[in-house]
Amino acid sequence: MTHQIPGAAPFGAVLFDLDDTLLDGSAAMAAGLSRLLTRCPGLDPARARAAWHEADEEHYPRYLSGELTFDEHRAARMRAWAASTGAAVPPGDELEWFAAYREGYQSGWAAFPDVGPCLAALRRENVKLGLITNGDSVQQRAKVAALGLAGTFAAVVASADIGIAKPDPRIFRHAAGLLGVEPERCVYVGDRADTDARGAAAAGLTGIWLNRGGLPVPDGGVPVIATLAELPRALLAPPVKR
Ligand SMILES: [Mg+2]
Repeated sequence: MTHQIPGAAPFGAVLFDLDDTLLDGSAAMAAGLSRLLTRCPGLDPARARAAWHEADEEHYPRYLSGELTFDEHRAARMRAWAASTGAAVPPGDELEWFAAYREGYQSGWAAFPDVGPCLAALRRENVKLGLITNGDSVQQRAKVAALGLAGTFAAVVASADIGIAKPDPRIFRHAAGLLGVEPERCVYVGDRADTDARGAAAAGLTGIWLNRGGLPVPDGGVPVIATLAELPRALLAPPVKR
């Protein structure tokens, strides 16, 4: 079955980003940090959160680019967080501290409330569903399972599976190939305007920016939605008569 997004080519598949698109990453991070804060109760939670976010933004790209292994990036994040907050993480114990964070983080893995209804609406129309995520193969699939979405996607691609991360066009085309749908007939939805929406568009897909935070939208960019509740309506609208 093909569908029509107004002004775009008929599409045959919809692919999603995972973190902060389907999975509420901020809530999970808060759950992880609250575990860490039990080890340093004097630390201001807002400061701890800002420093953790900063360390993540600095070191996760170094993992994605292959500069650091997954564990090296975890240790680097913990070191940067300790340096920034003054938390007394003993040198050499960074991974043990990260394990404490991860335990809380994993307990906080949950889908945004708009995910289930959106996927159900697309499934009712027999739209092929896929997932492309930047991250570790095992951890990202564990997240998919924790969200109750194992078996939902006909193709799941983590950047670590193929050694190529978004926004490299090859990862988008690879996932389209696994679904057996031409990139031009695929829609990709993600929370990052550049990495997700514009990256997908550069690979020939229709990239849609899920702007959950209500950030300012530049002119002439990619299509934007504020929640996944808008997606089925946008994609499944009757074809425009010409
Ligand atoms: Mg994301």
